[in-house]
Amino acid sequence: MGETLCNVGDAANDDSRMGLRSGTATSTGLVRETNEDSLFAGEQIFAVADGMGGHAAGEVASALVVGQLAALDASGSLKPDDIRASLVKANRAILDDPAPEREGMGTTVSGIAVVESRWLVFNIGDSRVYRYTDALEQVTVDHSEVEELVAQGLLTPEQALHYPRRNVLTRALGTGVAPDPDQWVLPRRSGQRFLLCTDGLTNELWDDEIASVLGAFSEPQAAADELVRLALESGGRDNVTVVVVDDLE
Ligand code: CA
Repeated sequence: MGETLCNVGDAANDDSRMGLRSGTATSTGLVRETNEDSLFAGEQIFAVADGMGGHAAGEVASALVVGQLAALDASGSLKPDDIRASLVKANRAILDDPAPEREGMGTTVSGIAVVESRWLVFNIGDSRVYRYTDALEQVTVDHSEVEELVAQGLLTPEQALHYPRRNVLTRALGTGVAPDPDQWVLPRRSGQRFLLCTDGLTNELWDDEIASVLGAFSEPQAAADELVRLALESGGRDNVTVVVVDDLE
């Protein structure tokens, strides 16, 4: 993954033009051998992606979608349909990947983008976007079998924690069908903070632990670093990736 696609550690992003500040952190974790997550923190688009598939395919898939979003970020002001079009292109690129050993690769993608002076939140899969003001609020809804069973009342949230097929997604990029991202529009608001993360964070930390970090660390880079540190301390069973974005406007 290239420098521009992964602002880690001291490469915190301070884009005064857009009235934003961001911090990012990612780790392979303590169990997995490779990091199949990718992240992007640009001028107006921020995203995380959690790739899946053997033979390094997951990291190729997650890097492909992040690369499409990076190209879009560099192309100037965004229109409402640009994110969806970019995800369609990423889906096509994943399906068209010529390497036979990567057949069947896929990726989630969750992110936020400044579109016509508002936030567009987008999601496919089970990575997440949270908004934090005084409290933590999950904006995205997971596209997973377990989430659907909970929504239908067939599993309680407690049963969901131990559900054996927790990682089965109902939507992802690379599955062959046209990508169908959920999208939400939220206002820009001074003091508002967003957390984008892969499930390597949310499977290790409770919401109240996440909220207390977001409330305690004013610098987004410090908050991102602390969240990843705590996920590793809690077991680090999966790749973990976070992007923290502050609305300064
Ligand atoms: Ca994961």
